[in-house]
Amino acid sequence: MGYRFTVGGARFRSPYFPSRFYLGHLREAFRNGVKPMRRLFVFLAVILSSLCLAALRSPVAAQLPPVNNPLAPPQSPALAGCSTTDASSCAQVASKLLPLVMGPSPMEENLRRLSDEIGGRVTGSPEMAKAVEWAVGAFRAAGVEVHTEKYTLPVTWSEGDTRIELLGPVKFPIRLKSTGWSPATPPGGIDSNILDVGYGTDDDFGKQFALMKGAILLVHTDIGSTWADLFNEYLKPPAIIADAIKGGAVAILWMGARERLLLYRHTNSLTGEIDKIPQAVLAREDSMRLARTVAAYPGKVRVHFDMPNKSGGPVEQQNVVGEIRGYEKPDEAVILAAHLDSWELGTGALDNGCNAALVIEAARAIKATGLLPRRTIRFVLFSGEEQGTIGSHEYVKAHRVELDKVRAVIVFDSGIGRVTGYSLGGRRDTEAGVREILKPLESWGANNHTHDASFGTDNLDFLLEGVPTLVANQEEANYLPNYHAASDTFDKVDMRELKLHTVLAALTAWGIADRTEPFGKRLTRTEIEAQMKETGLDQQMKTLGYWDAWQSGARGRKP
Ligand SMILES: [Zn+2]
Repeated sequence: MGYRFTVGGARFRSPYFPSRFYLGHLREAFRNGVKPMRRLFVFLAVILSSLCLAALRSPVAAQLPPVNNPLAPPQSPALAGCSTTDASSCAQVASKLLPLVMGPSPMEENLRRLSDEIGGRVTGSPEMAKAVEWAVGAFRAAGVEVHTEKYTLPVTWSEGDTRIELLGPVKFPIRLKSTGWSPATPPGGIDSNILDVGYGTDDDFGKQFALMKGAILLVHTDIGSTWADLFNEYLKPPAIIADAIKGGAVAILWMGARERLLLYRHTNSLTGEIDKIPQAVLAREDSMRLARTVAAYPGKVRVHFDMPNKSGGPVEQQNVVGEIRGYEKPDEAVILAAHLDSWELGTGALDNGCNAALVIEAARAIKATGLLPRRTIRFVLFSGEEQGTIGSHEYVKAHRVELDKVRAVIVFDSGIGRVTGYSLGGRRDTEAGVREILKPLESWGANNHTHDASFGTDNLDFLLEGVPTLVANQEEANYLPNYHAASDTFDKVDMRELKLHTVLAALTAWGIADRTEPFGKRLTRTEIEAQMKETGLDQQMKTLGYWDAWQSGARGRKP
């Protein structure tokens, strides 16, 4: 039995036997900002007790894998898996991960370098290549084995000097940015009328259809403040684009969904190919002023719109893969992933630099515990996510024959808002397993999982292959106001929250890798279809144009 001490009024038991109580209150203490001296005391106590635990452990040091960093300490297998019958490994690992991650670590400096020094990194750009080097270097510095995997990006893209000029009857400046992977306007730009088509519903289009030929459409949006709003920003455009083309419009201007003149970059082409019609996002206030002007002078508002976007390619791109090999079933793997690429108006800190740094830090911390999991843990940083999860799709294609042995894929891609649990991709069979794994951190409130499934991040192609996927469910926090915008910068990242998420991510990956039994089976195509139907993912895929690829077997588990 150990001593007791108090932090911020909360009493701590000696963590010889790490308990929910202990870990939970430690998190509370960090959340509430424990005084520095006391915090130091907490760390010392945690580290000391971890050492005691390590000494108590029986020396099981057989089956060491090759250690690629000669200076790294040898690692030993953990005691037992995080299963219902034997949960000690998860509690033990959680107590070791906490001080490793919450204490001084390279994560903050890693993220600063990625976001401040490399900055925005569009897949196919020189900055993306630097980000790949950054990731490889950071994994190596953590003593984690790392390699890159190449694939071909069909098209590269960059924005030129986008301008729109009101020709009359009223004139004022309009701020705008091209949507990602939008085609350029014809050389010299377009002179045309602005046609306000409201929200672009069938009703709106029906009334205006005869006026669309040759017009530039202005489409209204609401301010995005929830995850549902964000999904709608992607789900609504495909039908509007199709109607615009059918009606003979020459371009689409989207009203910005964020206030205070904030510009951001979206893509409505989710295949990596150049989109079908030139599109730009207008600063919200400017586009509302434009809409009022069009209402005052119907049919009379003309603009000159010039958007000389550049495209090229195809070009080789890379995913970065770190690995800690399992001691018992090294050919079975758990993947912890985030995308490394970003848009470039800001520096991609919330989306998704912070979680790229999390993945590397989780690898560093697991390695530093000195323990080995039963199965391999792969730490994957995908590129091409913003162009339609291209890097993860390519990864799945390249590793198709091994997917029976991928036990789960865990993805973090929602900034820094508090994690409430995981979205389990429509599956119920994996919930008990993840609840058991996260039990040592029960009081963090991150063990409430949902059974929804959706598009929008790198789990999609794994889900379509029947592999269990876990996507961190996070509160919106400051993600949406800065989404893909110039304001997505390092200063938006709450490092303490990121560290807590890192512990959660590392423990989840560890727990799935170290269970005695597999986490969840690989679903058959029929089971995946049922899962899609139950969650409505089939409808989303139809809306976004993915359905044909699923039906033909080009994407997802083969018929
Ligand atoms: Zn993202």
